[in-house]
Amino acid sequence: MTASLPALVDLVRRSRRIVAVTGAGCSTASGIPDYRDEAGDWKRKPPVAYRDFVRGPRVRQRYWARSLAGWPAMADARPNGAHDALARLEREGRVDCVVTQNVDGLHQAAGSRAVIDLHGRIDAVRCLGCGAVTSRALFQEDLLAANPSWRGVAAPTAPDGDADLEAQDLASFVVPDCALCHGILKPDVVFFGESVPPARVEEAYAAVRAADLLLVVGTSLMVFSGYRFARAAAAANVPVALVNLGRTRADDLAAVKVAAPAAETLDRLADEVEDTGDARPALSRTRSAGSSPPARP
Ligand SMILES: [Zn+2]
Repeated sequence: MTASLPALVDLVRRSRRIVAVTGAGCSTASGIPDYRDEAGDWKRKPPVAYRDFVRGPRVRQRYWARSLAGWPAMADARPNGAHDALARLEREGRVDCVVTQNVDGLHQAAGSRAVIDLHGRIDAVRCLGCGAVTSRALFQEDLLAANPSWRGVAAPTAPDGDADLEAQDLASFVVPDCALCHGILKPDVVFFGESVPPARVEEAYAAVRAADLLLVVGTSLMVFSGYRFARAAAAANVPVALVNLGRTRADDLAAVKVAAPAAETLDRLADEVEDTGDARPALSRTRSAGSSPPARP
C-alpha cells in the first residue's frame, strides 16, 4: 500500500468512473461531530437503536428533545472542501457517484448530483404508520409549538443533528405524532440496528462494480453497511483508495491510503488532478449498457 497524496493524484488522474464512499470525517470540517475516534472506536455513547425508539415513548422524548436542540446547527451546516472537491470531480467527469453514510445532505448542497444517501436524510421526517414524509425544518416548528419553553435551548452539538442535553428534564417533553394517522414520527434515517433498504444497497453495489476506483473518504468503515462496498470493490478488482485520519477496516484492501483530514486532502487532490490535466469532458465517456450509474434527485 502506498501512503502519499501524489500516488492518490496519479490514481485519480487515471480514473473515469470513481465511486466515492464517504462518512462522518467528510463532514467534521462543516462542524458536524463524528461518533468515532481515530482508532475507529466509539468516542461517545452509540446512537439510539431502532428497536428502542419504536418501543419506548421515553426514548422518543429524549431523541426529539435532543434533536430540537441540535437541529439549528445541522440546518446551518455548509459544505466544506471535501464536498466541493467531489462535486468538482463529478463535473469533470471523474466521479460517477457518491455513496454516503452521512445523513446531512451536504454532498447535494455542494452540487453533487449522483448521490446515494445510504442511511437516509436527517432533513426529512417519516411516519412509521402511514409512510408520509415531511420536512424536518417544518417539524422543528411543530416541536417548538408543542414545547414552547424549549425555544432557544442550547446544547453542545452531537453527531447526526443530535445535541448533548443530559441535565434537562425530559419527562414533560411533548412529541408530536403524525397529523394524518397519529403514527410515530421518525427522522428519515437508518437507525442503528435497522437495515438499509435493499434496493438502495443494490444500487450502490452496481455503481461500485462498474467503477474503476473506489475512493473511501472520512470513514473507518467500522459499520458493515459501508465496509461491504470496499469488499465488493476488492472482489471485482476495483482498486481501493482511502483518505481517512485513522485506521480503517479496509486498510488491508487499499492500494493507496492518505492518513489526513478529508477537507484539505480532497481540495488539494482536485486541484492537482486538474493541474496535471488529462480530464476528458463527461460527454466523451463511454459506458457499457446496463451499467449506468444511479441518478438520484
Ligand atoms: Zn401517519
